[in-house]
Amino acid sequence: MPGTELFGEEERKEIMDVLDTGVLFRFNHDAARKGHWKARDLEQEVARFTGAKHALAVSSGSTAVSTMLAACGVGYGDEVIVPPFTYIATVEAVLLAGALPVFAEIDDTLCMSAEAIRKVISPKTKAVLLVHMCGAAADLAGILAVCEEHDVQLIEDSAQALGATYKGKPLGRWGRMGSYSYDFFKITTAGEGGVVITDDQQLWDTAQQFADHGHDHIGDNRGMEQHPILGTNFRISELHAAVGVAQTRKLPHMLERQRAHKAVIQERLSQIEGLAFRRQCDDAGDSATFFHLLLPNEAAARAVVKGLGEQGIGVAYWYDNMFHYIKQWDHLKQLSAPYRMVAHELGLPQDLRTMTFPQSDAVMSRLISFNIRVTWTEAELDAFLTKMEGVVRKVMEGVTV
Ligand SMILES: *Cc1c(COP(=O)(O)O)cnc(C)c1O
Repeated sequence: MPGTELFGEEERKEIMDVLDTGVLFRFNHDAARKGHWKARDLEQEVARFTGAKHALAVSSGSTAVSTMLAACGVGYGDEVIVPPFTYIATVEAVLLAGALPVFAEIDDTLCMSAEAIRKVISPKTKAVLLVHMCGAAADLAGILAVCEEHDVQLIEDSAQALGATYKGKPLGRWGRMGSYSYDFFKITTAGEGGVVITDDQQLWDTAQQFADHGHDHIGDNRGMEQHPILGTNFRISELHAAVGVAQTRKLPHMLERQRAHKAVIQERLSQIEGLAFRRQCDDAGDSATFFHLLLPNEAAARAVVKGLGEQGIGVAYWYDNMFHYIKQWDHLKQLSAPYRMVAHELGLPQDLRTMTFPQSDAVMSRLISFNIRVTWTEAELDAFLTKMEGVVRKVMEGVTV
């Protein structure tokens, strides 16, 4: 991923600022920290980049989702609409909040469709938790219309979509709140980290209190601050934030390179007859961290994965992935948890043990994704594509439609 590819001097410098003072904590210690406020800097960088009024850095993309749910008042028994194709963290955050996940199918945008959301939305729905999978937008126009029709709040788990836009406006800014992940596998990494954004001062205030045991962060005596609410510790450390600051500043470069590489890939692979691609809701706004192929059927997709593997090219086949698609989520279907959850008490609104996802399966079984590298040279990209074309063409020749 781009962040890990570009780790260098800039990250080292930011980390050394923190190590030189020894203030690893994001609040207080004003004199000792000699002007270094890395968590604040990270928040400023993300707010500036996205145009959001407020940003809050937290310990992970997962805790960022939990923070948004809490600030938006999602709790006991509330229904939250989620996709079956996401990182499991999205669903876990809903359960951890004491709320109940309700699944809406995805389509070839790789995200929930407005139609599928419309089918499961009800007066019990407290929020639509939209995931913009793999760095590009869902059908926001359609989905926002459904949310407005039913007066349901939209919350964006944009963990994978920092840098991507829809109609020119960053993903994460379309709902009441949005979040980004800075884990090791995302476009920008802090090792571990996350950022919540919102234009709503009140939501931000609740979020920043919740993520730090209710502290109101007023004054310079931490032990004597007010605590309007209960919360927990989802704080980011200054060391992690330092890395995140340097990485966020590299976003424009990453996007420029990745989009240029995507154009080359698109041009080359479009020549292969019968091969389809992810349907983009805003092609220009794609962060271009991934490229997606839709093969004509599951057998062809599996043959391409195998053929590429033999060429030393690793690709993602999410249909089999244990953490990204509901087909493999037996632990969710059994509600396996180390403690008694609200979901055990109330039961899930959908019977996940018998429920099927025909529309999602029809896309997922045909989908192959690969990372678009930021550091590819022209020659490396050409060599990669030559191998890929060889494998895909061979499989496509054998496909009977
Ligand atoms: C990565 C991811 C998360 C969780 O982020 P972490 O930083 O790994 O906790 C949540 N939702 C989605 C969609 C993700 O891809």
